[in-house]
Amino acid sequence: MAYTVPKLADYSAAALTSAAAECVRECAREANRVRTVAELKAFRDRWLARKGGVLTQINDLWLKNAPKEAKREAGMGVNQLKARIQEIVASAIAPPVEPALARCETVDRVDVSLPGIRRPIGAEHPVMRASREMCAVFQRLGFSIAEGPVVETDYYNFEALNFPPNHPARDTQDTLFIAGQQSKPQRERLLLRTHTSPVQIRTMEKMRPPIRIVIPGTVHRNDPPDASHSPMFHQIEGLAVDRNITFGNLKGTLDHTMKEFFGSSVKTSFRPSFFPFTEPSAEMYVSCFICGGSGNRESGPCRPCKQTGWIEILGCGMVDPNVFEFVKDNGYDPKKISGFAFGMGADRIALLKYGVDDIQLFFQGDVRFLRQWA
Ligand SMILES: [Zn+2]
Repeated sequence: MAYTVPKLADYSAAALTSAAAECVRECAREANRVRTVAELKAFRDRWLARKGGVLTQINDLWLKNAPKEAKREAGMGVNQLKARIQEIVASAIAPPVEPALARCETVDRVDVSLPGIRRPIGAEHPVMRASREMCAVFQRLGFSIAEGPVVETDYYNFEALNFPPNHPARDTQDTLFIAGQQSKPQRERLLLRTHTSPVQIRTMEKMRPPIRIVIPGTVHRNDPPDASHSPMFHQIEGLAVDRNITFGNLKGTLDHTMKEFFGSSVKTSFRPSFFPFTEPSAEMYVSCFICGGSGNRESGPCRPCKQTGWIEILGCGMVDPNVFEFVKDNGYDPKKISGFAFGMGADRIALLKYGVDDIQLFFQGDVRFLRQWA
């Protein structure tokens, strides 16, 4: 029941004090119930409004009606009461927020001390990790990282690497060409690079010898996907050019990096091969670090080395003088300098290093598989 101002039948000091105390009690109780800004305003108006407010009513009912002999006493009592009521109204506190937020505060309280939402951090992809680790071995030998475009011209992908037009070696790399370029000269036609080797030419055009670079990157070939092939895969290419670079430098560098990457017990073996941009060329094998070179494991024949005890890792060779002819004007005179180059599949070394038997697993995006590298 809301407080209503009673009429006073008795104007004795005791009756006045009692009525005033009751009024203060009710005012304090209403002040405690104030929760919102709107309620605070209604509360203030109810007690202090000049027209019809509780204090105005007290003035009318208690003071004006008082008998003459009690007026002085009643006046003093009412003035004290007004001061007390004004104090209570002034100290009534509404929440310092809008009603919607006020509800939020009482119902869904925000506890800023609770832990936040943890966002899982992704893991480095195994191919990227193997590539980075392999490049790091070369970087410790003084090689720098070089990169280049994935969409290349025929000139950089083939011609400047000693693949003349119509040369049969082009057919060994099933190339994906950008469509609709028949009107362009062949060397300007765009394609998805089939190897990272174009970056060798691009770097030699920009930097004079000596250079030592490793080139990680994505390449594409029109290969149907199977356990060891993918139309998109990754290579790591290397090039060192200086005066007096020999095949001995090539063997020593690669032997060291394979021991660093696969373990100090692996041996390397070089067997003659052919690439258009190197002469002489070789394929490099490492002794099988899975069966220890024996070709057999306790569980049976060793599949990664096909029971031979050796695993082919990369192709390499001395840079063909014909390649240097394309950048001769930038200090690469094949009569004065020499160099070696090599290239390996980053996916393949990741397969070997992590014991994965299907390259497709790397590109299917199955989180259960990739989580193993987290
Ligand atoms: Zn083996």
